[in-house]
Amino acid sequence: MTYRHCPDQDASLIIVGSGFAAAAAVIHLAHNGFAPSDILIIGPGTLGAGQAYGCKADAFRLNVRADLQRLWPDHSDHFPQWAKTHIEDPQAKTHAGLFYRRADFARYVNAQLEAATGKKELRQVPARVVDIRPVQQGWQVFCDDRTAYHGASLLLATGNPEPQWPIPNRFEDSSTLIRTPWRGDWLEQIDPTAAICLVGSGLTAMDALSGLAERDHKGPISLLTPHGILPPEQVGWEPGDPFLWPDTRRASEFLHVALQMLKAGFWEEPEWQQRFSALRSGISTAWQQLPVEDRMKLQRRAGWLWSLARFRASPQTVDAARNMADRGQLTLIRSALKSLESTRSAGWQLGLANEASLNADIVINCTGVGRDPLIRKLMATGRLTPLGKSHSPAVSPGLQVISPDGSPCDTLFCIGPATALALGDVMGATSVAAQAAGFARSLHTAEK
Ligand SMILES: Cc1cc2nc3c(=O)[nH]c(=O)nc-3n(C[C@H](O)[C@H](O)[C@H](O)COP(=O)(O)OP(=O)(O)OC[C@H]3O[C@@H](n4cnc5c(N)ncnc54)[C@H](O)[C@@H]3O)c2cc1C
Repeated sequence: MTYRHCPDQDASLIIVGSGFAAAAAVIHLAHNGFAPSDILIIGPGTLGAGQAYGCKADAFRLNVRADLQRLWPDHSDHFPQWAKTHIEDPQAKTHAGLFYRRADFARYVNAQLEAATGKKELRQVPARVVDIRPVQQGWQVFCDDRTAYHGASLLLATGNPEPQWPIPNRFEDSSTLIRTPWRGDWLEQIDPTAAICLVGSGLTAMDALSGLAERDHKGPISLLTPHGILPPEQVGWEPGDPFLWPDTRRASEFLHVALQMLKAGFWEEPEWQQRFSALRSGISTAWQQLPVEDRMKLQRRAGWLWSLARFRASPQTVDAARNMADRGQLTLIRSALKSLESTRSAGWQLGLANEASLNADIVINCTGVGRDPLIRKLMATGRLTPLGKSHSPAVSPGLQVISPDGSPCDTLFCIGPATALALGDVMGATSVAAQAAGFARSLHTAEK
């Protein structure tokens, strides 16, 4: 395939991806004196919105209260203060704090970008990167629109991959078969009496319920949940002292420490959440000390439970789900999807793991699980080194991608969800912002 090189767009740094991680990197780089005009962003959509905040539905709220949802990791008041003067949202206030609409957080990020860049246009190419290659003095980046760019350094910030169906599925996405519900645009096309099945029971399913409740959906909703539970509600906890993790070198020791810390009380209680958050504060360092096999074992066996406790739903979202369940409109089915067929007269027929089946007019994939095509390709071609036998890249604590010879690469970096197996709890905005701030500081120091 031939690519058109665009030399006028050469950059000191190319950021691959256009979500929150990319925006946070630009803001922290500018804060550290890096000229935004030396950066080229490659990725679709409004910079900063990404998969997480680029949603249309007002019912899709942040699942973290405003003072903990941070672009500036040490400034708990930054977003709440901005929100006070820029967001009109009487429903944001809850017993557990302020939970704003996700789309409003995207506006906040955008305002911070404008402030950081002095409102000068940032260079952004609205394409998807399909490959990268090392060249003399940097990297060549190839895009799906057949353009190519040169950057002295490269930051991979590709974020949350598009979710895939949890089973092989031969049917095309449509208004009755929704594979990626994150944007919320599908809500506008829903027949209010349709029978809906949500596949999966995490925060994406909670968003879908909240969106349907806001539109006053009347039809029945079934929700497939492998473990029979929905995410717990956020509570109004206050941060305490961080927990000092002992030296843990095995999955069993790691789990033992966590269970000892969390076994007393109930996760609905603020005091439990305070202990959980204290545990989280040093977890990434403890995680990085474990052998990769032990990390993978923990992810397989306890990952679902950790995610459930970690990613709580906003009170507004939990209210919506609770009301639907109380009315008898929402039914939880403890099973998993095994097959999907189209019928002539009864919509979709779903085969379940427990041998049962059910019919629905609309099926929505709420599993949230996907594979990043670029990361996978770069691993397959040896540009990224897998961590152990996993499908995740090896990344140093300084966010440098590990080269095949085991040394950290000085010009190739990775940030955000793709670094979770290597670096620990780095999915939420504040953790990603802390990575971006660290990256900006290290680039600043290296350039001196
Ligand atoms: C639906 C959803 C809701 C969330 N809500 C919250 C929340 O309320 N609070 C919280 O703290 N965290 C939340 N998160 C966690 C979220 O991961 C982080 O907050 C943060 O947004 C991650 O930013 P990111 O840029 O790494 O990822 P993303 O938001 O996924 O953005 C990545 C961007 O890169 C682009 N991209 C991907 N591949 C390529 C490529 N090959 N070439 C070019 N561009 C590419 C994508 O199109 C996308 O725009 C949520 C996540 C999701 C998916």
